Amino acid sequence: MTQGRLYPNYLGIELGIAEKLAIKAIAAATGEVEDRVSAAYRKTGDLGTVAEDLLRGKGQLRFGGERLTVDEVYATFDKIARSRGPGSTESKIKLLTELLAKSTPAESKFIIRMAVGKLRLGVADMTILDALAVAHGDGKDSRTLLERAYNLSSDLGVVATTLLTGGMNAIESFKVTVGKPIRPMLAERLSDPREILDKMNGTAAAEYKYDGLRVQAHVSQEEVTLFSRRMENITDQFPDVQKLLKEKLAAKEAIVEGEAVPVDSTTGDIQPFQAISQRRGRKYDLERMVEVIPIALFLFDLLYLNGRDYTQDQFLERRNTLGELVEGRERLNLSSQIIVNEAGQLDKFMEQAIADGCEGLMIKSIGPDSAYNAGARGWNWIKYKRDYKSEMQDTVDLVVVGAFSGRGRRGGTYGAVLLAAYDQKDDVFRTVCKCGSGFKDEDLSKLASLLKKYLIPHRHARVDSKVEADAWFTPELVLEVTGAEITLSPVHTCGIGIVRPGSGLAIRFPRFTGRWRDDKSPEEATTQTEVIEMYQTQLKKLG
Ligand code: ATP
Repeated sequence: MTQGRLYPNYLGIELGIAEKLAIKAIAAATGEVEDRVSAAYRKTGDLGTVAEDLLRGKGQLRFGGERLTVDEVYATFDKIARSRGPGSTESKIKLLTELLAKSTPAESKFIIRMAVGKLRLGVADMTILDALAVAHGDGKDSRTLLERAYNLSSDLGVVATTLLTGGMNAIESFKVTVGKPIRPMLAERLSDPREILDKMNGTAAAEYKYDGLRVQAHVSQEEVTLFSRRMENITDQFPDVQKLLKEKLAAKEAIVEGEAVPVDSTTGDIQPFQAISQRRGRKYDLERMVEVIPIALFLFDLLYLNGRDYTQDQFLERRNTLGELVEGRERLNLSSQIIVNEAGQLDKFMEQAIADGCEGLMIKSIGPDSAYNAGARGWNWIKYKRDYKSEMQDTVDLVVVGAFSGRGRRGGTYGAVLLAAYDQKDDVFRTVCKCGSGFKDEDLSKLASLLKKYLIPHRHARVDSKVEADAWFTPELVLEVTGAEITLSPVHTCGIGIVRPGSGLAIRFPRFTGRWRDDKSPEEATTQTEVIEMYQTQLKKLG
């Protein structure tokens, strides 16, 4: 209550008494007309002092000599916060009026300020922890352990109760609880792979850094609750993620963390993050959104499982146990991970991550001190991102050399095509992306009928591809495509070995523009040389 709050923030319950209601309660408790209360408020700008002055004017001291207790104030506020539905406005006013009728003028000032959300004593969470350490712990130094308990529960009330009932012993053995969000562990940033490995004492786990929304899922037999990075309850926005965990996570009770990423509904490929943000705040067409922008969850940490707190365990222990709960079934996966001990491995894995639609890597300590540091930013996690984001300056015209069968709504037809640029020197077509975005339903049926006549049972001799397509075509059909940027790629063969040994170039997040370039022959498509030039211009622009 010192902070003007009744509950921890993550519950999202506000006391929420509108000023208008508070004015009515003050008027009722003091026997004033509402207009006078409002006029006094306009003059002072503080409803608290208005209540105080009016009660003092009325000569109110104490109701029957009875002292108002903190418990009683809390219980009344609690009732107010929880009253909903028809008649709740009247009952809120009544409860607040009763409280004012029992309070001294000075008490009424703080009661009203708290009721309208303007207590503002400026007492931060950390100040409360400091105060608890001194008042009930073993002095200032207890703060670290108290803070840990707070980071594991996000609930100052629980920390205080634990301390006052069980002392510092109970704080030392404080455990996470399903339903109470754990403050997330955060990463430092470095951009040199050698430096990163030095920090990690030579070896570490490297993971794809998915560009989505961090989700902390609390799974119990009754329900699945999802919290955001800021510990807001986002369960309602992601009924599909809830269902995924309920059905596919092999655990009775667990707290897991992962990144929720939008994927293409037909190819399953990762989509740009913006697609997920379209979901936020949408109540009405959520059902449609769930279908149009499905979500895959890539789990990267385990904090609790069936009665056991894992936050103090080493990272690989957590990760291995997590692996036992997930079979990499559709849309519920573990984050891609390898163990690295050389800078070259990091760079290669980075290329692969980018090619797969991720924004970089997370490098994680696997040493003896690799516990989950709730609420802390530290060197046990290092993010390795490329610091640029750009838009491709120009569209490209690419040749369809293969296709992939569609899933879901695109079942029975092609879901994506394998596209290539033309290499004039060797007179071959080299792949540069797999594209499933931008096709409307009518485009897809047109695509299938246009491709029919080019279908061949194997890869065409003039096509250079490391990717295995479901169907192969004689290179004939040309499409216009746009994308986010050109990146190095371990998968595609356009420009292979020219920009970097072993690497080709790929278009990231390719999208069909809707233009069929039937005015172009395949040899008039964008060339490998042009793709390389575009990549180099992009690098120059980024300095
Ligand atoms: P920060 O979280 O460091 O304050 P931020 O919110 O902008 O910054 P980033 O800097 O992009 O996030 O990096 C950290 C985030 O990366 C994590 O909070 C998580 O959401 C995301 N992430 C994606 N993949 C992983 C992974 N494999 N392991 C851990 N985090 C991951």
